[in-house]
Amino acid sequence: MSVRVRYAPSPTGLQHIGGVRSALFNYFVARSSGGKFILRIEDTDRNRTTPEAVEDLYETLRWLEITWDEGPDVGGPCGPYVQSERNDIYREYVERLIESGHAYYCFCTEERVEEVRVRQKAEKRKIIGYDRHCRNLDPGETAELLASDAPRVTRFKVPLDGETSFTDLLLGRVSRKNEDINPDPVIIKSDGFPTYHFANVVDDHLMEISHIMRAQEWLPSGPLHVLLYDAFGWEPPIYCHLPMVMGSDGQKLSKRHGSTSVREFRDAGYMPEALVNYITLLGWSYDDSREFFTKADLEELFTLDKLNKAPAVFDYKKLDWFNGSYIRQLDDAGLRARVIPYLVKDGVVGDPPSAEESRIIDGAIPLVKERLKTLSEISEMTRFLFREIGGYRMEELIPKKLDAAKTLESLTKARSILQDFLGRSDEENEDLLRAAASELGVNLGAMLMPVRVAVTGTKVSPPLFPSMRLLGLEKSLARIDDVRILLEKEG
Ligand code: GLU
Ligand code: ZN
Repeated sequence: MSVRVRYAPSPTGLQHIGGVRSALFNYFVARSSGGKFILRIEDTDRNRTTPEAVEDLYETLRWLEITWDEGPDVGGPCGPYVQSERNDIYREYVERLIESGHAYYCFCTEERVEEVRVRQKAEKRKIIGYDRHCRNLDPGETAELLASDAPRVTRFKVPLDGETSFTDLLLGRVSRKNEDINPDPVIIKSDGFPTYHFANVVDDHLMEISHIMRAQEWLPSGPLHVLLYDAFGWEPPIYCHLPMVMGSDGQKLSKRHGSTSVREFRDAGYMPEALVNYITLLGWSYDDSREFFTKADLEELFTLDKLNKAPAVFDYKKLDWFNGSYIRQLDDAGLRARVIPYLVKDGVVGDPPSAEESRIIDGAIPLVKERLKTLSEISEMTRFLFREIGGYRMEELIPKKLDAAKTLESLTKARSILQDFLGRSDEENEDLLRAAASELGVNLGAMLMPVRVAVTGTKVSPPLFPSMRLLGLEKSLARIDDVRILLEKEG
């Protein structure tokens, strides 16, 4: 059987981790099996679909370099690939269900349907839903109502007894009593658009989808979908509902846990390579040990037999670790190209960077490479190389065991050594400073901290001496002098 799989998002919001995980799994299965990966936009909910969400979908998939063989923009033999452009197709197929007695028109008003629900709730019924009032309307009455302009929906006839089951590749047999299934769900709404269930089943069939890999929250729809396939006399695809993605507290991953949209991770300076790698490990593992996979590796190695049943936990720290590792795998030119957009966006350098800024960026890359967890951290880490320091905080300038006067004395001593530092190696400078520090009875760390804060504006910075060289001796000494004046006032 040839593998044809799809990602079928409803563009109602930003692409989130769970959705992208489904996209990646389907994409990798297609690639590793020589099958086809199809992108289909499920936009039948006209009130919730937005152009921004559609744009975000394309941008996200392109940024992650997930490509599709058939889809809205590239076309293909089963198009169109946007559900809102397939209404004629749905109309034709719903007719078939009506003719074969598997679907019927319902003319109940929304108010009536709501009243029924309220009553059922009050009666504490197990299944709350439509009371099937129009299921057995007299054909004459139906014809009359159809000819009028009475609003109507089309409902699917769920069998009243028996049960429906299917085999999920991951979860095994899934069964549901038909009496527990949503009683006669709407398949064509009053606006003429199909509902998710109907369009999804028709399209998966017409697009010859072989495997449906989707989030586990769709599992409850499975039996209804199988009933729809049966009603058409079609063979359902192979189902595979993917494990849930949880936060560290065991609750479904949500905004409460942190960023959930790929857009946020991208803005925060995560690399697409790291996200692809990490997200693919949410519910899949190659063996007990290997964690690093490039996209090319996964296009070869990803198979369904290595999916995990257990829920996956999204670990933000682990993602940081992956991201840092991917940053360190870049060569200097590669890292440079990736961080410049963040420096520009944060106003640290111009767009494009000037020649002088470019020179400083080149020098800064090797200093920050080991320290960056995300690309965006470059801005805070290197701002002092491009911009003046906004201001100093006394409590950062004065080391714990010293007071303002002693700090000033030590900083002045350090400055007198550092003014010639360009002619010496880092080791020589350090030796001289250490000797001077011990003469003053302070340790080297306490002597260097005010220097670091003066030059870089923070207590945690890239390595001090190389930073000073990059900034230039004159500027470095001027900043030290600014701090000396502050300390004099304080003392
Ligand atoms: N449009 C559905 C969604 O947004 C598709 C679910 C499925 O894959 O069947 O997740
Ligand atoms: Zn009705």
